[in-house]
Amino acid sequence: MIRKNKSNNRSNLALLAFLVLPSLLVAQDFDAVQITTTQVQDNIYMLQGSGGNIGVSIGADGTLIIDDQFAPLTAKITAAIAELTDKPVTFVFNSHFHYDHTDSNENFGRAGAYIVAQDNSRKRMETTQVLANGRVQEAYDEVGLPKITFFDAMRFYFNGEPVDVVNTGNGHTDGDAQIYFREANVIHTGDMFVRYGLPFIDQNNGGNLDGMIDALMNLASLIDDDTIIIPGHGQLSTRNDLLDYRAMLVVVRGNLVRAKVQGLSVAEMLATEPATGYAPANAGTADWLTRAYNEYR
Ligand SMILES: [Zn+2]
Repeated sequence: MIRKNKSNNRSNLALLAFLVLPSLLVAQDFDAVQITTTQVQDNIYMLQGSGGNIGVSIGADGTLIIDDQFAPLTAKITAAIAELTDKPVTFVFNSHFHYDHTDSNENFGRAGAYIVAQDNSRKRMETTQVLANGRVQEAYDEVGLPKITFFDAMRFYFNGEPVDVVNTGNGHTDGDAQIYFREANVIHTGDMFVRYGLPFIDQNNGGNLDGMIDALMNLASLIDDDTIIIPGHGQLSTRNDLLDYRAMLVVVRGNLVRAKVQGLSVAEMLATEPATGYAPANAGTADWLTRAYNEYR
């Protein structure tokens, strides 16, 4: 019963959020969600269902996953992993604290996995947060909180390769982690890089547009043209895709800063259509631009 109520509550809130997180539209009926598995490289896979993309590393040491989507999907995620390996999930990395990436934490924690995250993300998960889109995310029980945290970077040696866990700066939130499998040359970027147009930036929780633009350059300098990118949401991508996306943000920021220097009100700024060519002129885009505009004083 508790789960059912929680789900209903989520669905209503998802309606509020969908303007900036279009992927949540499909999150409303978890029974209908199917998990698809894509082999990315060697022993690295991507699972897609509803919520953030899940990265999976299988091998002799065990199973490591990056992000875990929604709690009602845990069993389906576990079943998809069982098709790849008989080893249980040893580590769950959270790319950041948002519920569409972490809501299975309590289930995986209960099953014995160690959860790993940037320290600020753990702190966010300890208490209730209000996201910049108005969505309320409740605190997780202790079992769903990261047991292992880092600040700037750390390295795991797992399944035969170094796995770097890196914070490239405040951007999407103030607790983002990118996970880079060095031998396979695959990186999971979390929501610092997504494929649905203007990225959600959680200004309520330490995210900001300037930081995201800087973090993306830091990210680009970690990887090379052969790197396969698992984005927070959307299809597998390349470093060039990431640089194109960053270029979009630079153009939009330039338009916002120009409007700010001219002293335009929010309504006047919106009338200049700062995101034209990149995002549809709708309420979601207007909200995004308004929040970003308010970052500049
Ligand atoms: Zn997010």
